[in-house]
Amino acid sequence: MVTDYKKTNPNLESPIYHPFFLHPGQEGVQSFREHVNIVRDKLEQVFLHADRPFAGKTPEEIQRELHSIMTLSKETETLEHTLDELFDPVLLNSLHISHEKSLAHLHCPPLISGVVTELMIGALNQSMDSWDQSPAATYMEQALVHQLAMLMNLPQSSDGVFTSGGTQSNYMGMLLARDDYCQSRWQHNVQTDGLPNQWNRMRILCSEEAHFSVQKSASQLGMGEKSVVPIPCDSHHRMKESKVKEKLKQLKEEKLIPIAIVATCGTTDYGSIDPIEELAEIAQKHNLWLHVDAAYGGGLIFSHSYVQKVAGIHLADSITLDFHKLCYQPISCGLFLLKEREHFRYLSHHADYLNPKEDDQEGIVNLVNKSVQTTRRFDALKVFVTIKTLGTNLLGSMIDHTIELTQYTAEYLRRKDNFVVENGDPELSTVVFQYQINDSINLNELNRSIQQTLFHQGEAVISKTSVRGKVYLKFTLLNPRTTKKDIREVVSEIERTGNEIANGGMFA
Ligand SMILES: *Cc1c(COP(=O)(O)O)cnc(C)c1O
Repeated sequence: MVTDYKKTNPNLESPIYHPFFLHPGQEGVQSFREHVNIVRDKLEQVFLHADRPFAGKTPEEIQRELHSIMTLSKETETLEHTLDELFDPVLLNSLHISHEKSLAHLHCPPLISGVVTELMIGALNQSMDSWDQSPAATYMEQALVHQLAMLMNLPQSSDGVFTSGGTQSNYMGMLLARDDYCQSRWQHNVQTDGLPNQWNRMRILCSEEAHFSVQKSASQLGMGEKSVVPIPCDSHHRMKESKVKEKLKQLKEEKLIPIAIVATCGTTDYGSIDPIEELAEIAQKHNLWLHVDAAYGGGLIFSHSYVQKVAGIHLADSITLDFHKLCYQPISCGLFLLKEREHFRYLSHHADYLNPKEDDQEGIVNLVNKSVQTTRRFDALKVFVTIKTLGTNLLGSMIDHTIELTQYTAEYLRRKDNFVVENGDPELSTVVFQYQINDSINLNELNRSIQQTLFHQGEAVISKTSVRGKVYLKFTLLNPRTTKKDIREVVSEIERTGNEIANGGMFA
């Protein structure tokens, strides 16, 4: 039944808003149950009938369907009515990321443990900025961060904080690297005094395959994108340590000031892992900050067979890790770790209303002191519930499954005549390849067209990237439910589509 709330004449003595809040007492609980059941019902319909990763609509079609429901209403409606309206345009037109043939980006199928914990996170709505807004959550996040740091062999002096993802974590790493350099070398406090005169000469070294958020951070931090020096990679797409050494020498000759090295542990395209231990040695020798961007590869800490790939990660000054990639959590769920917790001081600012200095003296923990955010989600709960219920063994097996499936996929493609595999010996869970039917055809157009055709058919979602200026196709295999058979079917669909396009003479 829809109540017309305009006619109910609310007054300050008898609030009428009960059904809308999950509040203490029977009424709130009853209303909550009804609402959850409605949502569960709709989601069941979506997941019972989603037989393809994508409905295959065009951007125009999707916008047109959305248009009809986008008028905002003054009147009250039932949740059921609202969800009915958006069922087709939004729920059915979403990318069904949990489908076994959804293989495009570093975008994972979420574990049920994470999905249902999202409901708890929202219902409790703790805010992680000050202890009095998250009395238990603050300490749970702290304790979980500590355990994860210990799992990675970081020292007792380490600390960390949950973030919105890899971009934010990388930004924090670059910010602390900058501020620590200025403070320790020049006794210059960036927090109070802004950038030092040398801002124009500061440099950050990273792989040419590093994530673009390194550049973005440098630009936001006032050093400019030009402060990021890309280092060439070897044939396995790993940053060459010899080139790092050469570059450091050259920069110093040019009177430029290297402040940090970023090692990528799992590049976005190839999953390649820079030589962390060697880079740590170089960073130590030159007294530079080492940031390890393990947004993708960090999940390997749970792996049974491949944990060795992240050896040396504990040598980093700061680390980026995303649980919404290889650890199957709903977005958003990132972690930033720091070897020396005292470096968080560059981020802290005391506000009388929120985190007064006295709190520190009284031992009250206000996590806002460690974050670039103020109000912040209790994402740590998802990770905790997942690890507690699945156990690290099962989580590790899932990760191993995807890596082994990726090795199978690369091998399978390599054996075929018409495929060239760029990373034939994949490090993590991506395979980059090109379909090459014959020389008389424009392979860039062909591969681009294969990817798009598959997307619009909706049967399989794969991605494309560029390899030395050429269009290649890419699988990112994050779903532990994807099987060899799924892979063979998608590959044969690529072949069929490729032949059809080629024989149609479109790109001759
Ligand atoms: C995905 C990714 C990022 C960015 O992380 P977000 O969570 O998308 O902000 C950074 N670095 C690497 C290597 C990544 O793969």
